Amino acid sequence: MQADVTTDTPTSDTPVSESLSIVIPMYNEEDNVVPLLARVHEGLAGYAGPWELILVDDGSTDATVARLQDEARRYGSHVRVVTLQRNFGQTAAMQAGIDHARGTVVAMLDGDLQNDPVDIPRMVARLVAEDLDMVAGWRKNRQDNLWLRKVPSRIANRLIARITGVHLHDYGCSLKVFRGDVIRDVRLYGEMHRFIPAWVASLTSPARIKEMVVNHHARKFGESKYGLSRVYRVLLDLLSVYFFMRFRARPGHFFGRIGLVFGAIGGVALTWLLGVKLFLGEDIGTRPLLLVGILFVVMAVQFLTTGVLSELLTRTYFESGTTRSYTVRPPRGEQPEPGWKQP
Ligand code: UDP
Ligand code: MG
Repeated sequence: MQADVTTDTPTSDTPVSESLSIVIPMYNEEDNVVPLLARVHEGLAGYAGPWELILVDDGSTDATVARLQDEARRYGSHVRVVTLQRNFGQTAAMQAGIDHARGTVVAMLDGDLQNDPVDIPRMVARLVAEDLDMVAGWRKNRQDNLWLRKVPSRIANRLIARITGVHLHDYGCSLKVFRGDVIRDVRLYGEMHRFIPAWVASLTSPARIKEMVVNHHARKFGESKYGLSRVYRVLLDLLSVYFFMRFRARPGHFFGRIGLVFGAIGGVALTWLLGVKLFLGEDIGTRPLLLVGILFVVMAVQFLTTGVLSELLTRTYFESGTTRSYTVRPPRGEQPEPGWKQP
């Protein structure tokens, strides 16, 4: 699977008027709320279509929710707050936002002002002009710690690109723009948000994904929610991504292969013994090989049935369409009808 990824940054100036949903996950970002909303409105001021802003509070324990709700009231019905029951993690928060997004184009970014909303219209324009599925941000001038952040993520980017076959410079950049129908077909759970380009590429072929250089700022308020433990978590995730990409929706093939190898070894052993018994007339009842043969055949059956079960599990769990990786708290009191900010 080779994604068509180029890294040039031509800016298309054709005004686009697609409806746009901007999704932002927020976890304990109280001091970022007010400047973030201001920056989004500044950045989108010249956008030629209707847009909405979906702010997902991922179980914050500080004043984030209260401030989000104040700001939503102040700005109007195009700003919506989705409050999760507890902290479900960035991936689930993003999925919650996608599920509430109504736009034909969906943009996602972080709520800590590290991404710059002013990049969004440019990215949407490119998505529409070139009929892409996704435009990924590339923090070419990344404002993060070199050894704790930039070096590990450079290694991770290479590995992810290698394993998924989708070559991007910057998997970790949260600022991304998608065609709504495409991102709605991706179901995010666990910590899958780091591999979204790979999932998008696995949905459409050839993958229409491009990168654009975007602004990046150092975090001013609050702190990063991830420490160094992310490095090994990404590595473990990568292992399961590899498993998933190779045996996507077909875990039975993984177990099936092991089962077939065991079955073949057991089968050869037993056939050999049968030959010895029939043609040489020797007694095979006491041969250790008999035990090995039977054991391998039994294990083969076990692996094959495990494979079938895992197929059924994957299907019913993730493809039922009802599985959610989060729960939403119903809003209190009267809520305005969701609206659009008209240009
Ligand atoms: N975030 C979230 N739930 C979490 C952790 C993070 O919604 O459990 C949000 C966070 O508020 C921010 C974005 O995800 O808007 C990225 O998080 P962070 O800035 O900590 O990541 P970093 O920039 O350090 O990679
Ligand atoms: Mg950040």
